[in-house]
Amino acid sequence: MICPGCSCLCDDIQIKNGRIFHACRRGEEIFSRYGENRARALVDGREVDVDTAIEKAVEILKDAENPAIYGLDTTVMEVQEIAVDVAEKLNGYIDDNSSFCLGELVEAVLKGDVPTTTLDEVRDNAYVIVYWGANPFHSLPRHMSRYSYYPRGAKRPRGYEEDRYLVVVDVRRSETAKLAKKNAKYIQVDNDEELVESFMRVVDGKAAKYAKEAGVIINEMKKADFNVILGGLGLKYGLRDLNRFVELVRKLNEVAKVYFIPAGFHANMRGFNETLFERTGAVNKYSFRDGKSDKEFAFTELLRNDRVDAALIVGTDPVYSLPYEISAKLGKIKTVVVDPRMSFTARVADVVIPSAVSGIEMSGTMVRSDGVRIKLEAMEEREINDLYIFRKIREGL
Ligand code: SF4
Repeated sequence: MICPGCSCLCDDIQIKNGRIFHACRRGEEIFSRYGENRARALVDGREVDVDTAIEKAVEILKDAENPAIYGLDTTVMEVQEIAVDVAEKLNGYIDDNSSFCLGELVEAVLKGDVPTTTLDEVRDNAYVIVYWGANPFHSLPRHMSRYSYYPRGAKRPRGYEEDRYLVVVDVRRSETAKLAKKNAKYIQVDNDEELVESFMRVVDGKAAKYAKEAGVIINEMKKADFNVILGGLGLKYGLRDLNRFVELVRKLNEVAKVYFIPAGFHANMRGFNETLFERTGAVNKYSFRDGKSDKEFAFTELLRNDRVDAALIVGTDPVYSLPYEISAKLGKIKTVVVDPRMSFTARVADVVIPSAVSGIEMSGTMVRSDGVRIKLEAMEEREINDLYIFRKIREGL
């Protein structure tokens, strides 16, 4: 089985006699508890059959002047494609969590602004491994053991003891930073931009605030023909201008071979980014009415500025995850929730359409954080799933 718990999409999960093998704690929970807290089909709090809930959803979307679709990071690409069709038909907005997560970093990769690679290549070849603003201990529990620091690779047979050099950049000594001991460096930053500038200056032979640290790391990078930076949320939020980081990766490539992979997000966030990118050239916060992507079309901004009158929310829980003053605005508009679980948002929605857990009860394609497309086979295929629901919505429009 493949675990749909995070963007590692681990492909070695085994289930024997009800016991789950190889999954981390988060993955184990997904496989053992997916039957709990299931959503029911509801219209205005009344229990109905699924097709009635879908019909009501279609009615709401048709009547809306400014509808938005939001979420989709945990469903499969086959559904994401139809969701983009629906947004286009509605002439509405479409966005996912990546607009405040790692969307910009994925966009830089998709546009070819930074050299990238796969996690399989990292496992086999990477010498210097930089986790910048990422704490895989929490966000990607098996990232280090399956793909980066710990495995013995084809060209790194002695593994982390001798064949890897770990760098952790973070604002605090995270669990991952605590691993940076032998053949390793932890850089505590209070300003990521200064570290970016330091690396740039050291490549040019100039003095800089973090010259010592940057110098050591660049020298290590020069020893190998394969190094990688894995960038997480801390990197995104530590930089006002992502372009400067893009320039840094290019600059480092003047003296060593350095790749970049975004690290740490929902199972198929990158699938959403790639699906929308292939259709529109943008990875998120897209308005079909305006024919472009912009900060003002991020779902949080649309809500904050009262610019939507209906929302179709798929597999995400903004009432739980967004600040109250923003999520409270959902109470003023029509909301349709498509989710296998009775989320907090489902409890306040006008319409709830219960679906299947992607990857466990619905087969389909997801994209790993490095861009590798993975086919997930359901354990038990459910007839009513996101694909069924979205096909019906598209037909209804
Ligand atoms: S690391 Fe992610 S994909 Fe792998 S088992 Fe854990 S939750 Fe599942």
